[in-house]
Amino acid sequence: MKTWALMDRLLMLLIPMAGKKEAPSRGHRAWAEINLTHLRHNAAELKRVLPPQSRIMAVVKANAYGHGSLEAARELSREGIAHFAVAEIGEGIALRKHGVRGDILVLGYTSPERAPELARYRLTQTMVSREYGEALNAYGVKLNVHVKIDTGMNRLGVPCHDPHSIMACYRFSHLNVTGTFSHLSMSDSLGQAETRFTQQQLDRFELAIGQLREAGIDPGLVHIQSSYGILNYPEVSCDLVRPGIALYGLLSREEDEVRTKADLRPVLSLRSVVTQVKEVKAGDPVGYGRNFIPSCDLRIATVSIGYADGIPRSLSEHGGYVLIRGQRARIVGSICMDQLTVNVTSIAGVRQGDPVTLIGQDGAETITAGQIAARCGTVANEILSRLGSRLERVYRYD
Ligand SMILES: *Cc1c(COP(=O)(O)O)cnc(C)c1O
Repeated sequence: MKTWALMDRLLMLLIPMAGKKEAPSRGHRAWAEINLTHLRHNAAELKRVLPPQSRIMAVVKANAYGHGSLEAARELSREGIAHFAVAEIGEGIALRKHGVRGDILVLGYTSPERAPELARYRLTQTMVSREYGEALNAYGVKLNVHVKIDTGMNRLGVPCHDPHSIMACYRFSHLNVTGTFSHLSMSDSLGQAETRFTQQQLDRFELAIGQLREAGIDPGLVHIQSSYGILNYPEVSCDLVRPGIALYGLLSREEDEVRTKADLRPVLSLRSVVTQVKEVKAGDPVGYGRNFIPSCDLRIATVSIGYADGIPRSLSEHGGYVLIRGQRARIVGSICMDQLTVNVTSIAGVRQGDPVTLIGQDGAETITAGQIAARCGTVANEILSRLGSRLERVYRYD
């Protein structure tokens, strides 16, 4: 860790945050405020709805959905979580280099030639197919692996209808199988056909696990549920569950119905500042392409955050707004790479340096990542995971 980053962390600990509604900008152009109390709360809430033997494997891929994988993993470790999942080997190595302990599962494919790195950083690799297991084993490096079984998603995994290949995955001399898992592709939907499909996936998984046990093979830690799998099928009893988005306090789509009521609290707020305020006359164009031409005189505020920070460019056309002084200010004109413009005509006293909320609460108003996702035709997962590396991350407890 760079010295200044260390200083920053120390300072954070020293600044008393108790009772403060909002972190100060401390000179940042744009920043994500991460409420670690909420992260812990969400983990505890998920544990509450699960059978007692189901432990959490926290999914911290893609920089923990934009929240900072290192800080998220550290905080969750303090909550007693000892299993983490990442998408790729680089993410796992970064966690180890910063001292994260416990099991780290690489969910995706890793080129077999990187077997020595998997071993060196004690990462558990997903065996995505029998052939992949052969290639990995051929490197002659002792590794822990979880076997992935494809129960119907048709993405990664050994096909569940091929028990012969599944069993072969447990017999590689250098690969120590410590877990077996699958992934549900429709657990977010409670429709009849969708529920039937999910039940079929669950049944196929159970059958495969049963076949292994009958053959005297230990499948290790068994897991199949991600966030929606937990919330819609909490009764499924596995050793591990793999929540991502729910840990961060959200559903992928805000309007989704789930069978389990859990009190999930959004962890991330996204803020920036007003960098200039100006009067624009009716008919005067604002921004690139003269895409916004007001029909009456307006006051426009420029905000120092843009699409390179993860604000979808299409948000402007889809009625997006921000919060300034507790009030809504509509985004106008094209969102730029590093800046955007908002209409503050009806908000009194807006001036340079005012904090701007893009996600989160300001006074009585709140904007959620889910609302932005809905406007832009995507899921909250995409909005969060695309938040740029250029954003400062400010960690707090409330
Ligand atoms: C990303 C991912 C998860 C977490 O999914 P959420 O829907 O965010 O809970 C779990 N398992 C696998 C295999 C994943 O790729």
